[in-house]
Amino acid sequence: MEGIIIKGIAGFYYVRTSEGVLECKARGIFRKNNITPMVGDRVTVIATPEGNTLDKIHERSSELMRPFVANISQAYVVFALRNPDINVELLNKFLVYLEMKHIEPVLVFNKSDLATEEEMTNIREDFKGTGYPIYFIEAKSGLGLDDLYAQLRNHITVLCGPSGAGKSTLLNKLSGNETMETGDISVRLNRGKHTTRHSELIEINDALLVDTPGFSTMDFTMEAEELKNYFPEFYEYEGECRFNGCNHNREPGCRVKAEVGKTISEARYNYYVKYYNELVEENKRKW
Ligand code: GDP
Ligand code: ZN
Repeated sequence: MEGIIIKGIAGFYYVRTSEGVLECKARGIFRKNNITPMVGDRVTVIATPEGNTLDKIHERSSELMRPFVANISQAYVVFALRNPDINVELLNKFLVYLEMKHIEPVLVFNKSDLATEEEMTNIREDFKGTGYPIYFIEAKSGLGLDDLYAQLRNHITVLCGPSGAGKSTLLNKLSGNETMETGDISVRLNRGKHTTRHSELIEINDALLVDTPGFSTMDFTMEAEELKNYFPEFYEYEGECRFNGCNHNREPGCRVKAEVGKTISEARYNYYVKYYNELVEENKRKW
């Protein structure tokens, strides 16, 4: 039988199948080959005399370490419009990271009660051409959440974003769990510093949502030449640059650069160039 691991506790895995949730043990061969089943894994379960057993783990489309979940297909990137102010650089870094991990970003701007229409219009402009869905919500009151529910369909979704953005508030609302504590009180209240928290998947109709907010900061690097692959708004023009392998920076005849201010957002392009140059410097120092 086929299913998805939604929870793992002490060597047992809980697999959502069409027949309900099955409690399973992993085959010894996984441990021998150093394979750890992950929440989110698509698996084949077989019945054995010892009970239900994970027989096969299907190839993963993505793997995150924090939270430790496989096959996440979508991330709600949550930033508050104010309180704290949007850190545009951090936001773009999240987007680059998610592209690297083959996870589709969805832009969720929270605390719309604290911002003006004009600010929201400018934000739309800043991300034009990316194709990323953009939502403006008020997690606290629940305003605008209907579209976010709909967007969960057929995905495994994680929430990420900086501290204070409203991730816990939103997670509570989406999961229908009002008891989870938010920043008002302190999420850490009854969680020991060193206890590892294993993520689970919450089932919401035909959607799965990771029950813990994901990363809030990031530390990763790459070759500068790789960066352009993570800006979807560049893709359709890339073949039209004068030089093969154009980095859309100082090269003459760059078709991407010609689109800046038209179909490509100036803010995003400026961020690209800044980050590109940082990566060049960083990689120089390494050698
Ligand atoms: P997290 O750190 O990303 O998990 O953020 P929290 O969910 O803990 O929220 C941080 C603070 O923002 C809390 O005081 C929330 O009550 C508040 N907050 C959440 N949503 C909204 C909203 O829509 N509008 C306003 N004004 N505040 C909100
Ligand atoms: Zn170019």
